Amino acid sequence: MTETIPTELEQLDERFAAVHGDAHVERLWTGARWTEGPLYVPAGRYLLFSDIPNDRVLRWDEASGAVGVLDSPAGYTNGRTLDPQGRVVTCRQGPRDVVRTEHDGSMTVLADRWEGKRLNSPNDVVVAADGGVWFTDPPYGIASDYEGEAAQPEIGGCHVYRVDPGTGEVAAVVTDMDRPNGLAFTPDGRRLLVADTSRQHVRVFDVDGGRLSGGGVLADLGAGPDGVRFDTAGRAWVAAGDAVHVLDPDGTVIGRLRLPEEVSNLAFGGPKRNRLFVTATTSVYSLLLSVNGVPLL
Ligand code: MG
Repeated sequence: MTETIPTELEQLDERFAAVHGDAHVERLWTGARWTEGPLYVPAGRYLLFSDIPNDRVLRWDEASGAVGVLDSPAGYTNGRTLDPQGRVVTCRQGPRDVVRTEHDGSMTVLADRWEGKRLNSPNDVVVAADGGVWFTDPPYGIASDYEGEAAQPEIGGCHVYRVDPGTGEVAAVVTDMDRPNGLAFTPDGRRLLVADTSRQHVRVFDVDGGRLSGGGVLADLGAGPDGVRFDTAGRAWVAAGDAVHVLDPDGTVIGRLRLPEEVSNLAFGGPKRNRLFVTATTSVYSLLLSVNGVPLL
């Protein structure tokens, strides 16, 4: 049931005025313990999202507004994205893997180990234009039984990985982060933004095929960033604390959209990709913007 929420827009820079539309925030649904992993699937006009502690995947239908359980138990899914063929790629904290759902409904495991050791608990994923699958691997799914299955980590770190589209090999591409979480490519695909939740900053890397360089801090946020998405003008939209922070390409935080609950992740959607969906604790929120998200396909 949709409910209108008083909207708090915090403008820190005049550039922020160009991005928010009518700023009419709606709560589309509530009833989860911790929502995550929003993904708008344009072909079906629905939003998939995870309720991690309750181990279920839900689907919000844009045409009817109905929400239903798509899958449960679901392997404690977290972040998800589309690959260039329109297949959903999902991080699962239970089996500690990254899987692709094929067009016939079967699942293909893309990554579950690195150098023979089990991953911690893959958190979020993006697919590059060349088909390379990039994902983060913090330990939230093995820290306790709340969001997965409690276990000792096998890898002595929390890294960012890439699955090679040709060989399927899993390579560690960033090994000096503490809690890598959300990640996204700039619209031109030449830079990759990665959030480090515990260090409360986002870092930016230059991308050269399967390799990264650079990696400086683009912005300190004063709150732990989780999900990240880009709009077509190269602004990063970062879920951190109780707000979505909007970053100009130069790293300036130009404004924040505050929500009534702690936010986790976000996705652009709607047929024009000008609708922002935000997963936040027990709920999913949405608003229409003056900007469009980068297409995943
Ligand atoms: Mg996350």
